[in-house]
Amino acid sequence: MHVSTFAAPVTPVRTRFAPSPTGYLHLGGARTALFAWAFARHHGGTFILRIEDTDVERSTPAAVQAILDGMAWLRLDCDEGPYFQMQRMDRYREVIADMLARGLAYRDYMTSAELDALRAEQTARGEKPRYDGRWRPENAAGRTPPADVKPVVRFRNPDTGTVGWDDGVKGRVEFANSELDDLVIARGDGTPTYNFCVVVDDWDMRITHVIRGDDHVNNTPRQINIFRALGLEPPRYAHVPTVLGEDGAKLSKRHGAVSVMDYEAAGYLPDAMVNFLARIGWAHGDDEIFSRDEFVRWFDLSHISPAPSRFSAAKLDWVNQEHMRRLPDAELGRRLVPYLARAGLDAAGGPDAGAVAALLRDRAQTLVAMADAAWYFYQAPVVPADKVAEQVTAANRGALVELHGEFAQLDWAREALAAAMKGAAARHALKVPQIMMPMRLLVTGTLSTPAIDAVLALVGRDETRARLARALGLP
Ligand code: GLU
Repeated sequence: MHVSTFAAPVTPVRTRFAPSPTGYLHLGGARTALFAWAFARHHGGTFILRIEDTDVERSTPAAVQAILDGMAWLRLDCDEGPYFQMQRMDRYREVIADMLARGLAYRDYMTSAELDALRAEQTARGEKPRYDGRWRPENAAGRTPPADVKPVVRFRNPDTGTVGWDDGVKGRVEFANSELDDLVIARGDGTPTYNFCVVVDDWDMRITHVIRGDDHVNNTPRQINIFRALGLEPPRYAHVPTVLGEDGAKLSKRHGAVSVMDYEAAGYLPDAMVNFLARIGWAHGDDEIFSRDEFVRWFDLSHISPAPSRFSAAKLDWVNQEHMRRLPDAELGRRLVPYLARAGLDAAGGPDAGAVAALLRDRAQTLVAMADAAWYFYQAPVVPADKVAEQVTAANRGALVELHGEFAQLDWAREALAAAMKGAAARHALKVPQIMMPMRLLVTGTLSTPAIDAVLALVGRDETRARLARALGLP
C-alpha cells in the first residue's frame, strides 16, 4: 500500500469526470468515472461531469447521449454539469489574452516548414525533437513577425528545475522541465488546445482532485506548470491504471462487449457492474461482493493497484449472480420484467414476475438468461409429437390422463401437486420421474425446469390443464 498526501483534507472535495464524446462509455471510462464519483461521495463532496468535445471531427451528440445513458444506468449521478467545452470558448480566449498580456505566453510565428526542418536537424543530431524557443520575446527581439503567418500561442514553460506531484495512485512523479516544450495553447486559427482547456476548466470548476486514466500522466506536468504560472495551486492528481482485456491486451471491441450499455442489454445489474468495476484494480481486504453504499464508505485511492488490471467475464457473471441472489424476490422480479418484454414475453399475461424470479434465481447468472428460462410461464409450448412419444408411453399415459382430471379439483399449491403426482405414480406402479418428466415436457416444452410441482403451481390450474389436454389429445 502506498501512502500519499492525496487524501489529505481539502474541503470541500470537488472531482470531475471529463470524457471525450467520441464513442460509447466503455468499461475503462466507466471505471474512471466510478472512482471520481466515489471519491466525491466518500468525502461528501461534489461530482462534476464535463464533456470534452473540442475535437469537433470526432465528437457526436450520439456519443454524448451514450455517455449520459451509461452514467445514468450505473447511477453515477453528477451534482454539476454536464458542462461542454465548446460552450466555453470565450472563456479560454479570455485566459489566453490575459496570459499574453502578462508575458506568460507568446506568439510563435514559426511556419510548419520551419518546424519540420528543425525536427529533421534535431533528429539528425540524435536529439529529441523540441521547439527551440526562437519566438520567445527575448530571442525574437528586433525581428519583424512575418505578415503571412498566423501565429500559434505558446505557453512559456520554465526552463529549469522539475515539476512533480504526489500522485494519489502512483506516488511521487517528477519530470524535468527541460523535457517539456513550450506548449501550444492556441492554434493558428485561435482555437485553444486540449491541455490548456483542461487547466482552465479545472480552475474554473474549482476541482480539488483530478482522478483520471494514466494515459494522461504526460499531460499532468504541463498542466501543473500552467496552473503555477497563473499563480494558482493545481488540484491533486491520481492516475488510475488501464483496464486490460482477459488476454492482457488493451481492452477493445475484440473483447466483445465494451460499452457499459451492452452489459445492461446483456442483463447485468448496475450495482453488480459497479461492484465488478470497483474490483478492477481496487480492493478492500478480501471483500468481493459489496453494495454501492459499502463501496462509497470504503473507497480510497491508496488501495488502487498502480499496475494495470484485467477484465474477467467469468468474474462479472459470478458477481452478477451474487447480486441477484441478494435481491428480494419481488425486487428481482421487478428487474426481470423489462427483460421479459425484450424477449417478446408479456409479463402481464403470466404469473407474478417475483414468483418466477424466486424459482429461477439459482439457475441464471443474468436477467437475460432468466428471461430466456422463464418463457414457458408466459407462452404455451408447442411440443413436437415425437418428443411427446419419447416421454408418454402406454405405461404412464393413463396416469397422466387421470392427473389431468384430478387437477380440476385439487387445492392448487405446490405440496398438493407433488402429492397428487406421487399418488398417481404409486397407483400405476411407476417411479415418480416417470410422471414428473412427461409432466415437465407437456406443460413447459422442456425437460430442464425447477421442481415441476413449483412450476405447475405458478403456471396455474387452467393453463396447466389446457396444456396437458392439448399435448395428450384430450377433449
Ligand atoms: N477527455 C479526457 C479523456 O477522455 C480526460 C481528460 C481528463 O480527465 O483530464 O481521456
